[in-house]
Amino acid sequence: MNLADFSGVWVFAEQREGVLQKVSLEILGEGRKIADKLGVKLTALLLGHDVKDLANDLGKHGADEVLVIDNPLLKNYTTDGYTKAICEVATERKPGILFIGATFIGRDLGPRVAARLSTGLTADCTILDVDVEKGDLLATRPAFGGNLMATIACPDHRPQMATIRPGVFSKLPVEDREFKVEEVNVNLQENDIRTKIIEIIKEHKDIIDISEAKILVAGGRGVGSKENFTLLEDLASVLGGTVAASRAAVEKGWIDKEYQVGQTGKTVRPTIYVACGISGAIQHVAGMQDSEVIIAINKDESAPIMKVADYAMVGDINKVLPEFISQIRRMKEEQ
Ligand SMILES: Cc1cc2nc3c(=O)[nH]c(=O)nc-3n(C[C@H](O)[C@H](O)[C@H](O)COP(=O)(O)OP(=O)(O)OC[C@H]3O[C@@H](n4cnc5c(N)ncnc54)[C@H](O)[C@@H]3O)c2cc1C
Repeated sequence: MNLADFSGVWVFAEQREGVLQKVSLEILGEGRKIADKLGVKLTALLLGHDVKDLANDLGKHGADEVLVIDNPLLKNYTTDGYTKAICEVATERKPGILFIGATFIGRDLGPRVAARLSTGLTADCTILDVDVEKGDLLATRPAFGGNLMATIACPDHRPQMATIRPGVFSKLPVEDREFKVEEVNVNLQENDIRTKIIEIIKEHKDIIDISEAKILVAGGRGVGSKENFTLLEDLASVLGGTVAASRAAVEKGWIDKEYQVGQTGKTVRPTIYVACGISGAIQHVAGMQDSEVIIAINKDESAPIMKVADYAMVGDINKVLPEFISQIRRMKEEQ
């Protein structure tokens, strides 16, 4: 493999039913920085059927070029179909780097593509950089249960692949930039796809996406019970926010997993994060440390969360929260 033949940063632009996934735009934002450092092109790779219109959004979010693979067989995601299409274009055009969002689809697709291209993949990355001289991607991810961060390079193979955690990077502001759209044909037959989608049944959940929330009131094991979560809901409601949780609270069955913050939950960066009865384990903090203002309520003044917090309240949430809520209500009435 001649490494010098490979160049450019590619981002898999994941769409579902014609809607671009936010993580793809976030990776384009970070991919732009990497491509600029290396002085190479940033390419978005868009697969689907009748999705060409989405190319515009990808260009406005930083791509220099959008490669559109439009094929009825790519209408819905299938491991076989998407892997074959991506590998065909990647083998022909030789990107230096290929990023994929660490969504359910990305976590399925990434390893398949990497194996078929005989290259390495760093999964679930949270920090990206490059060694400009060598052209090596430096992909960082939590390792050993989140107790340390490992930076992984793939110096001998190309493309260098990584899946990226949603919510970690910011998308670029929308701008009218110049970009090129190119439609690419791939040789894909019906019998290349071994799974047939017969019907898609969507689970209906009235769940708020905590990664979008501006104010989060999160509860941990210290909340004590499912019933006590209503105190957090009351605080969230007076603040105009949403509830979230630590893994311990989720494991207790007090709240749905969709609301979990942290390494194995979601990454959030709200304006205000109120941590109630949460100790501040490294795996939790990894998902909320970029919040603008962190308020911690904990009866243990030496809990690690108190060091991360901008405001630390030492006390029992059963006493602190009702008082906190009534003071905010009073302040609002006085306004
Ligand atoms: C691979 C791996 C991935 C993980 N991923 C995640 C993740 O994504 N998210 C996550 O959150 N965790 C994750 N964890 C678990 C993590 O290590 C901690 O176990 C977990 O975050 C602890 O949750 P907690 O803070 O709610 O509970 P605890 O650590 O038990 O803390 C409870 C806190 O509540 C306080 N408290 C108790 N009663 C009250 C009261 N009445 N009033 C006020 N304070 C009170 C206590 O002082 C204590 O600080 C992961 C662990 C591993 C190994």
